[in-house]
Amino acid sequence: MSVIKPSPFWKRVGAVLHSIRFRLVLWYSVILAIVLVVFSLFVYINQVRDIHGDSQFRLERKMAALEVGVTVTPNGLLVPPGVLQDTDVLVFLGPTGEVLASHGPLPAQSVVQLAARAEQESEHNRTPVGGITAWMEGGSSPQANYIFVTVPILGMSGRGGLVILGSPADPYGLVNKLLFTLIAGSLLTLVIALLGGYWLADRAMRPVHTITQTARSIGETDLSRRLNMKSKDELGELADTFDGMLGRLQAAFERQRQFVADASHELRTPLTIVNLETSRALAARRSADDYQHALTVIRSENDFMTSLVNDLLMLARMDAGQTMIEKEPVDLSDVAVETVERLNSLAARKGVRLETGDLPEARLSGDRQYLIQMVSNLVENGIKYTDGEDKWVRIETGAADGSTWVRVSDNGPGIPPEHIPHLFERFYRIDKSRTRMDEQEGETQSPTGSGLGLSIVQWIARSHGGEVRVDSVPGSGTSFEVRFKTD
Ligand code: ADP
Repeated sequence: MSVIKPSPFWKRVGAVLHSIRFRLVLWYSVILAIVLVVFSLFVYINQVRDIHGDSQFRLERKMAALEVGVTVTPNGLLVPPGVLQDTDVLVFLGPTGEVLASHGPLPAQSVVQLAARAEQESEHNRTPVGGITAWMEGGSSPQANYIFVTVPILGMSGRGGLVILGSPADPYGLVNKLLFTLIAGSLLTLVIALLGGYWLADRAMRPVHTITQTARSIGETDLSRRLNMKSKDELGELADTFDGMLGRLQAAFERQRQFVADASHELRTPLTIVNLETSRALAARRSADDYQHALTVIRSENDFMTSLVNDLLMLARMDAGQTMIEKEPVDLSDVAVETVERLNSLAARKGVRLETGDLPEARLSGDRQYLIQMVSNLVENGIKYTDGEDKWVRIETGAADGSTWVRVSDNGPGIPPEHIPHLFERFYRIDKSRTRMDEQEGETQSPTGSGLGLSIVQWIARSHGGEVRVDSVPGSGTSFEVRFKTD
């Protein structure tokens, strides 16, 4: 089966017909045409009525002048000079409707017909003697339209007669001229409006074209392009919104790219260590202790990678909006107790005292598992970064003024103020020189982490409508407080 594809020309025609520009001009022109027709009709009807009214008025005045000045003689009518024009018709009818005398361009046959019509009109209107009846008679052309007035008179015998006077309704052809002016004027206005409208619509739609072109030219990797339209109108606003959207997309892409780069970087170090350890172990025969050491290192790196991959997965799900927070009534003091139970042995191994301060009831609606993870991350950090004599990490909870809170504080090394604004950034670590390599090479266990813990804490806090606050005094300790609004 063959499909007939439209040629490029018809495609273009189709595009023009469907364009807003074309439809705008079409609607605008239709409305203008209706307005012009209504306006022209109004002017035409009024002017025609005025012209005819004026002709009738002049005719009646002529009739009045004739009533005193005309004489009927056996040879015809004696009309005072200057009263009648060549196109005027004057007919005198006798009491029985016979034509007594006539003047003007009408042939005898037409005069008889006119007499019959005049009798009819006069009788129909029951015009008294001296009263005027007027009517119009259509001709073959508008100029041949005649207005007639008839006046019943008393003849010498005392019986009634009729005087008929007619003259062209529009002697100067004003109606035709008006008609021509209105039609030509309207057409000209319509053409100018059409062309002007198309030009204007084209101008107005040009920025849309620019936006379309730019949008088309943006590739997946090139989000740096901007429209930068300076205009303050609606399209300028649209372009600004578009630029803003591009900016956000670019930032999101950049974050994503950075995230992947950082994640790969983080994984590279433990993978290198595992590689080194296995190569070293396999290079020659080793003692049982050496193998033990190699396996311990590999297991430790494996643990680190597992926790890193878990954190990465969690952040990726959070970013994709796939993390389901299932809210239920939760008491933060229960969360604190459970966290202490989980991390007590880790704290003991590091020689850190894990304390609970006051743990009054602190209720909120939240996801228990996520809240445990949030508090655990904070406590783990406290344990991780606090070493030395007489060190402690304390958990407290509370509820006051429409909010509940949980606080994790320690008497560790503290955080220099310049780092505090960056703590919640992904992969941000204060001491970047401490690597897993150092940990394995040195005798002491240096604190290590991927720099994702606090990002996860912040995400969990925010997804429960809470905020994290950090207070730290270098050399004295750090306190992280998460506060949730409950009303
Ligand atoms: P990590 O997985 O490296 O612990 P986090 O996001 O949890 O990552 O923390 C970021 C950085 O903040 C850590 O590298 C550490 O330097 C610092 N930090 C976090 N908690 C504490 C704390 N209680 N005391 C001192 N420094 C801390």
